[in-house]
Amino acid sequence: MLDQTEAESPPARIDGRPPSLKTQIVVVGGGAGGLELVRKLGAHYGRERYDIILVDRNHTHIWKPLLHEVAAGSLDANLDEVGYRGHGHRWGYRFFLGSLEAIDRDSRHVVIAPILDEDGSELIGRHRIRYDYLVLAIGAVSNDFGTPGTRAHCLFLDSRREADRFRQKLLDQCLRVSRQLSADPKSDARVEIAIVGGGATGVELAAELFNAASALKHYGLEVFDESRLTVTLIEAGPRILPALPEKLAEAAKTELENLGVRVLTGTKVTEVRPGEVITDAGIVRADLRVWAAGVRGPDLLEGIGGLETNRTNQLVVKPTLQTTRDPRIIAIGDCASFVPPGDMRPVPPRAQAAHQMADIALRNIKALVDGRGELEAFEYRDKGSLVSLSRFSTVGSLMGNLIGGRMAIEGRLARLVYISLYRIHLIAIHGWLRGLALIAIGHVNQVIRPRLKLH
Ligand SMILES: Cc1cc2nc3c(=O)[nH]c(=O)nc-3n(C[C@H](O)[C@H](O)[C@H](O)COP(=O)(O)OP(=O)(O)OC[C@H]3O[C@@H](n4cnc5c(N)ncnc54)[C@H](O)[C@@H]3O)c2cc1C
Repeated sequence: MLDQTEAESPPARIDGRPPSLKTQIVVVGGGAGGLELVRKLGAHYGRERYDIILVDRNHTHIWKPLLHEVAAGSLDANLDEVGYRGHGHRWGYRFFLGSLEAIDRDSRHVVIAPILDEDGSELIGRHRIRYDYLVLAIGAVSNDFGTPGTRAHCLFLDSRREADRFRQKLLDQCLRVSRQLSADPKSDARVEIAIVGGGATGVELAAELFNAASALKHYGLEVFDESRLTVTLIEAGPRILPALPEKLAEAAKTELENLGVRVLTGTKVTEVRPGEVITDAGIVRADLRVWAAGVRGPDLLEGIGGLETNRTNQLVVKPTLQTTRDPRIIAIGDCASFVPPGDMRPVPPRAQAAHQMADIALRNIKALVDGRGELEAFEYRDKGSLVSLSRFSTVGSLMGNLIGGRMAIEGRLARLVYISLYRIHLIAIHGWLRGLALIAIGHVNQVIRPRLKLH
C-alpha cells in the first residue's frame, strides 16, 4: 500500500522517485458527490493524465439518504457500503484515509489531521497533501440553531457511526421494555422517541421506526410490538415537509398519524434535557431524542484557507462551482452554497444536487487542466422530491419538461422512482455492469437476509 505522505509536494517526496508530472487532483469527501466525481475522473482520465486522490475520514462509503434505514435497523450498512481502497483500485484513483483540517492556499496543500488507531495511538502524524486542483465535497452536519442541550442529549443522523449508535440505543431500549413486559404483562412500559424536524429525514425516520418495531417480535422480542412505540415528530414550521406541495404533506401527515406518530407542528424546541425535549408548547418525554432539523457546513469550514463562507458555514461558489476567492478550489454538494442567478434561494442540500454538481465539476476540471478558458455554468435541475414512509407509503412530486411541470405522485409509482434514485447512484459509482449486478444482489438479499439488523 502507498504511504499517503507520498502525495506531498515534489521536493518533500520520501521515496526518491522523480516527482509526478501528472496533474494532482485532490477530492476531499467521498460521499454522494465526491465518490461519483472520483469514479468518473478515474474512469475517464485517471491512470494516463491525472493523479487523482480521494481523502475521506472513513474507510467506506454509505449513501447518506439510507441512514434513517440504518438507524432503524431495516438496512444492514455492511451489505451496502463501498470500500474506498478497492473502489479506487478499480477506477484509477488513490484513496488516503484522513480528516481535512486546514488548507494552505499559498503552497497548494491540504493539511490532514493525525490519524489515530482505536486505542488513540498515532498511526500517521499530521501531514500535507499537494494539489493542483482541489475539490471540497465534505457534506453538511445537522444545524441545532444553538438550541441548548442538543449536542449533549440528542442523537444525529449525520454519519454511519451516528446511525449505528442510534440503532444500538433503540435495540437496548426495546430489549429493556420487552423484559419489563415479560415480567409484568400489564406494565405500561414503552419506548418513547422524539424526532426534532419535520423535513424528509425526520418523517422518513418516524415511519421507518414503526416498520422496524413491527418486525422485532419475529426476532426474539415476542412481547414487543409497534403499539409499545411512541414517536413524536416536532416541527417549528406550520407544516411538515415544506419542500412538498401542501396536499402531499397533508397526506404524509395522515399516514404518519395512522401509524401512531404524534405530529406537533408550529412547535419550537427551546431546550433538550436528559429524558425530555422542552418546547414552547410543553415538555415531550423521550428516551431517545433525534435532531434532524436543517443542515449547515461543518465547523472546520469557517474561515478555512481564507475562502468565503456564508452564515451557515458553506463555501460560497460561482456558477462554475469554483470558490469565489480561489479558482483552483471547487466545492460541490452540501458544503457548497450556490445561489442561481436571478434566484433568491440557494440550491437545496440534496443528493440530486450533489450528483449534478459532480458532473459539472468533472467537465470543468478537465477544461481547467486543458487550459480552456470557457468553463460550464452549473444549472440545478430540480427533478422533484420524494419522501418514503417505509413500506407504508411514498409521496412526492416530480418535475420536468416531459410531464409539463410539477406532478404529484403517491404509492407504487412514487416508491419505484424513490428506489431508482439509489440505483442511479449505484450506477454512477460502479458503472453500468457492476451497478446492475449490485441492484440484482440487493433484491436477492431482501429475500434471504433477515428483515432487521439486530446488533
Ligand atoms: C437520513 C437522510 C435522508 C436523506 N434523504 C435524501 C433523499 O431522499 N433525497 C435527497 O436528494 N437527499 C437526501 N438526503 C440528503 C443527502 O444525503 C445529501 O444532500 C447528500 O448526501 C450530500 O452529498 P455530499 O457529497 O455533499 O455529502 P455527503 O454525502 O454527506 O458526503 C460527505 C463525505 O465527506 C466525508 N467527510 C466529512 N468531513 C470530512 C473531513 N473533515 N475530512 C475528510 N472527509 C470528510 C464524509 O465521511 C462523507 O463521506 C438525506 C440525508 C439524510 C441524513
